[in-house]
Amino acid sequence: MTPPERLVDHVDGWRVVRDLRVLARATSSRSGAQRVAWTKPWSDARDWLRERLSGLPVAIDRDEAGNVWAELTGPPGAPVVAVGSHLDSVPDGGWLDGALGVVAGVELLRAACVSRWDGATLRLVDWADEEGARFGHSLLGSSAATGLLDATAAARLRDRDGVTLAVAVRKLGLDVTTMHRSAARVADLDAFLELHIEQGPVLERAGAALAAPAGSVAISRRRFVFSGAAGHAGTTPLEARRDAGAAAARLLLAVREVARDHGGLATCGTLALSPGVATAVAAGAALMLDERHALDERLAAMVEDSSAVAREIAADEGVELVVEPVWSFPAVSFDASLVAAAVRAAAAEAPVAADVELVSGALHDAVALARAGVPVSMLFVRSRAGVSHSPAEDSHELDIVAGTRALAALADEAARRARFRSRA
Ligand SMILES: [Zn+2]
Repeated sequence: MTPPERLVDHVDGWRVVRDLRVLARATSSRSGAQRVAWTKPWSDARDWLRERLSGLPVAIDRDEAGNVWAELTGPPGAPVVAVGSHLDSVPDGGWLDGALGVVAGVELLRAACVSRWDGATLRLVDWADEEGARFGHSLLGSSAATGLLDATAAARLRDRDGVTLAVAVRKLGLDVTTMHRSAARVADLDAFLELHIEQGPVLERAGAALAAPAGSVAISRRRFVFSGAAGHAGTTPLEARRDAGAAAARLLLAVREVARDHGGLATCGTLALSPGVATAVAAGAALMLDERHALDERLAAMVEDSSAVAREIAADEGVELVVEPVWSFPAVSFDASLVAAAVRAAAAEAPVAADVELVSGALHDAVALARAGVPVSMLFVRSRAGVSHSPAEDSHELDIVAGTRALAALADEAARRARFRSRA
């Protein structure tokens, strides 16, 4: 009996590099990638994807949430393995975030076609609107497909020009209220595998080209609103002030100490002062606090501590404080045995960060799938200087080639395991 064909023997990682460069040229301006979801460059990128797939015997279509799928159907009863990521980018983004996993998936499909690989039904997915750059809802397509989307709330989201998400998706023939029907596409998945750049500096520091994260961090996002009293900058004595801006500034610094104590991260990325004039003490200050930790219980402790610190600061400054929950997401673990398989697949191609307990600090579509119970594993490719969401985002071409080969080997292994399971 001849051994079954292996995808890893047929993929060409250099073709992935070339395709990525072509895509970047076609959908970037001088200030970086412009493939923002629900805009023309994004549609152009997806047209390019269809064109790249057009010569292959795969069925291409778009689901109710706008996710694009290409399927190479395997033998009857074969397991279903999906690979993919997202073509959309942030404005002025990089050439690899998301695009890497989609273009590498195209290469896997091509390898499967030329080798007549029959290990599984192989699906490639380009998730719609992973970044949430225009409407603020990250993981839109994968959330819809995994039952995590609140369609009523999503439909009302507005972009900077006041256009609602409902209207923007209707222009592309989609309806927010029926996006959940895309769940049919993930219901039968035996594995979902996502190749992505790390977007952080850990691998570079560890001297590793590839890694397989164990899961993703827990996230809490809250708005802190301080209310004091406006006063003339030139006539209100310092000790008579109820300065909401000063309270917010103190909190912005204090949460870093809380995060350090717990080994997590805390970020105040927005701060608004009102009335917002140079000559008045701020009567109001609102800041958004994003806190992350690999462990749910440690994040809960961080959230409690930062709340207590905020209350102390408010009392000390003589201002009122209201804390509003905005959004939260639990820590997610990927499939432990698939992660182990991913580490082995990666180690066969390049130096890996085996001793680094890597947990993704950023959300990915794979996280939504893992949360919905799909066996998931990710492969991270080292980022140069840890930079991402920037035109300076880059990875070494050799690392991209190694990542593509590791993804192919992982798909081989995921298919083999699923076949074995279904026979058992
Ligand atoms: Zn991404």
